[in-house]
Amino acid sequence: MIDLISDTVTQPTAAMRAAMAQAQVGDEQRGEDPSTTALCERVAALLGKEAAVFLPSGVMCNQISILMHCRPGDLIFADESAHIVNSEAGGPAVLAGATLCALAGRHGMYTVADVEAKLRPAKRNAPKPRLIVVEQTVNRGGGGIWSLGDIAALAAFAQSHRLRVHMDGARLMNAVVASRIPARDYARHCDTVWIDLSKGLGCPVGAVLAGSAETIEQAWVWKHRLGGAMRQSGILAAAGLYALDHHVERLAEDHVNAQRLAELAIRLPGVRLDPTDVATNLVFFDVQASGLTARQLCSRLLAHGVRMGEESQSRVRAVTHLGISRDDIDQAALALESVLT
Ligand SMILES: *Cc1c(COP(=O)(O)O)cnc(C)c1O
Repeated sequence: MIDLISDTVTQPTAAMRAAMAQAQVGDEQRGEDPSTTALCERVAALLGKEAAVFLPSGVMCNQISILMHCRPGDLIFADESAHIVNSEAGGPAVLAGATLCALAGRHGMYTVADVEAKLRPAKRNAPKPRLIVVEQTVNRGGGGIWSLGDIAALAAFAQSHRLRVHMDGARLMNAVVASRIPARDYARHCDTVWIDLSKGLGCPVGAVLAGSAETIEQAWVWKHRLGGAMRQSGILAAAGLYALDHHVERLAEDHVNAQRLAELAIRLPGVRLDPTDVATNLVFFDVQASGLTARQLCSRLLAHGVRMGEESQSRVRAVTHLGISRDDIDQAALALESVLT
């Protein structure tokens, strides 16, 4: 099976498993797990922050950040396609008691003007604007990369309105590799920022949230409260350290493969896609003109041993990752061709 459903399907490589097996471990909650400590220090340095904390998932990074920034009744600005809006089971409302203002951005990205258009004069009856969320790269928005300028403009706006800025950096390292802009430059504008280890970096579990020392101390309290404090987590952290050494630069291969898939797919009848929209490892295309729904297309692809994701009625998502070779892409394009012609 050529599995393009997500970059979460990666299997830990033999070398990663060996690194995990050899990890030095201790009780994370006592600060005695050397591998976890090393991972947190490494990610804090990578993101230019004072401290970082290891968490079981990206969702927990988002939710703990929102819990730290927001009080019940506060307002969060995010693009309408954002993971926190669509894929976290209503967490901001349930956990922090915060309200989401979902902005209609372009390709998952919005500007100061979009936020300004939603800002009301402060009133007793209005939710209190508190947080701006930037997803780098944008997932459902199409895998695009927020420019440093747009992030800096939002951060300046946030500062003048006493808002905080949070970066959902599930695929921040894809943006870093594609744009050649260091992670800390993107992160500089954010109060909290995290990277996922279990997406393109290929680890089985984990994400790392970074911020000021004070913020991360507070994040630790939530980590305990929500049951995210672990014990010999160094087994998992070792995979993260291995991935930072060996799986970052190779993300460029995933981007080349995504571009190739887009260029092959655009030639097929009934496919609508603009290869210039493919900035990283996510390829979205529309199949309405083919007469097939996305679901029908995906189920027929499965019969050819290719799995892609149904994003909506007519939109399909394919994701490249370390388990996918250039040959796999050519095979997937052939399968797509036989389904469509
Ligand atoms: C996957 C993802 C998350 C959640 O990360 P998990 O590790 O799956 O919990 C959050 N935001 C974005 C943009 C994602 O793609």
